[in-house]
This record gives sequence, structure tokens and C-alpha cells, in this order.
Amino acid sequence: MKGLLDGKKIVVMGVANRQSIAWAIAKSLHLAGAQLAFTYENKQIQQFVSSLVNTEIPNSYHTVCDVTTDEKIRDSFAHIHDHWGRIDGVIHSISYTKTEDLPYSYLQTSRDQFTMSQDIGTYSLVAVAREVKQYMYEGGTIVTLTHMGSEKVLPHYHVMGAAKAALESSVRYLANELGPANIRINAISAGPIRTSVTEGVRDFDYLLSVVEERAPLRRGIDAEEVGDAALFLCSYLGRGITGEILHVDGGYNIIGM
Ligand code: NAD
Repeated sequence: MKGLLDGKKIVVMGVANRQSIAWAIAKSLHLAGAQLAFTYENKQIQQFVSSLVNTEIPNSYHTVCDVTTDEKIRDSFAHIHDHWGRIDGVIHSISYTKTEDLPYSYLQTSRDQFTMSQDIGTYSLVAVAREVKQYMYEGGTIVTLTHMGSEKVLPHYHVMGAAKAALESSVRYLANELGPANIRINAISAGPIRTSVTEGVRDFDYLLSVVEERAPLRRGIDAEEVGDAALFLCSYLGRGITGEILHVDGGYNIIGM
């Protein structure tokens, strides 16, 4: 993979710790030669994570970007642009994390929980794409993360599934609008991986065991496999692909039982 992303400048949004899928993606992109900037939800996460990042990926740029306001998204990308100039790619690996607060039943989802999961997980992609477009002078690529709970009913995933369905639809609409500027946008639909986002998901161990038992590859997947798929999508090798939902789940999504 070495050299596939030489000279490319990619912003990675959503590293919270070593388990984060965004961290595995960052490592794949770095090994392929990309220069990276990281955005964090808040100052505390930045303080905690940037030293970890710096030891493994030196010379990267770090800033805070809470995606709940357009102004903060605008400021963060303007700072990165002031520092770097052109931006070639964005990894959007962000979702609403307070899964432990979610009710057992979708019927009981509150307006606030519904709105917050759509706002943080889905609208943020639209706002980020709008902002970064002006800095992708030479075209670019955007990759976001989704899950098959958007397509099928999975235990306790409900409100997140609705947010991921809107996210996937947004990928298609954005692809159509960004394509003329040679900007590609795709989503990776990852199989279940234990991270901080899954901590509050009820029956997550059960979900993992079902995937291991029934997926065509008869195993779960790890974050590194998602990282390499993101590398493919960001590189010249993925140049003909946009608006796509690429499953990296050992094939579990094709199983009908
Ligand atoms: P994670 O907790 O490591 O990442 C979620 C990130 O979202 C964190 O870095 C958090 O700080 C960030 N975030 C939350 N609110 C934010 C805000 N207001 N502003 C900016 N950032 C904010 O967990 P993860 O599993 O690596 O999740 C990354 C993405 O992958 C999410 O979109 C998730 O839905 C998706 N995904 C995860 C799995 C899985 O099984 N872990 C499977 C498929 C898809």
C-alpha cells in the first residue's frame, strides 16, 4: 500500500481512543503516505488522544470540531486550510454516542434522542461536505461510516438505524452534487466492532456471536479491515466509485436468516 496516498492531505474526524475505527483508518492512510489532520469532539479528547496520535503519526495537525454547530465546522476547516492549503480527503467517523440512554423500544424514542442522532450522525456529513468542497480545489474524497442496522431490523439499534438510513441516502444525494467538482463520497458499512460507541448497545456480544457464526467468512471483522477499505476508497484505485455503500462485514449483510 506504500505510496498510494503520497502527497494527499486528509482530515480524520472521530478518533476518541485506540479502539476508534477512525484511528485504524488513520493508520492505514498514514502507511500509504497521506498527511493527516485530526479533529476531535472537544478539548478533553484532544488532550487525551493527540499525544497518542503524535507518537505514531508525527507531524499531524490537531484541532477541535464539535459538529453540532455549522460555525465550529466552518472555523475548523478554515484553520486546517490556513495551515495546509488544499484538502484532498475527509474521513467522517462520527455518531451520537449516548447509546446507554436509548430506550428499549423505538416507540419510546424521545424527540431529543431522535434529533440528536440525526444531527450528530447525519446532518454533520452534509455540513462538512458543504464546507470542505471549497478547499478541494483538485477534487477529493469523503468517506463516512454506516452500519447494516440501516437496512434490516437489528436488536436495539432502532434510532441509530434510522440515522444511518438517512446518512446513506445523504451519501447518494451528495455524490450527485459533488461529482461535477470531481469529489467522490462513499460510505463503509462496517460489521460490529467493539468501540466506545458500542458500550451501551444492549446484546452487543450476542450480535458479535451471530456474525461470527453466520457471516460467509464465519468470523467478525476488525477495524484494520475497515481502515484498508477506506484507504482503497480514498486512493486512485477507487477513482470510479462514488455514492456507494461498501459492506466490510465478512459478507453478513447477504445472509437472509
Ligand atoms: P467511537 O466512539 O470511537 O467514535 C465515535 C466518534 O464520534 C468519537 O470520536 C466521538 O468523539 C465522535 N463524536 C460524537 N459526537 C460528536 C460531536 N458532537 N462532534 C464531533 N465528534 C463527535 O466509535 P466508532 O465505533 O469508532 O464509531 C465511528 C463510526 O463508525 C460511527 O459513525 C459509528 O456509527 C460507525 N460504525 C461503528 C460500528 C461498530 O460496531 N463500532 C459499526 C458500523 C459503523
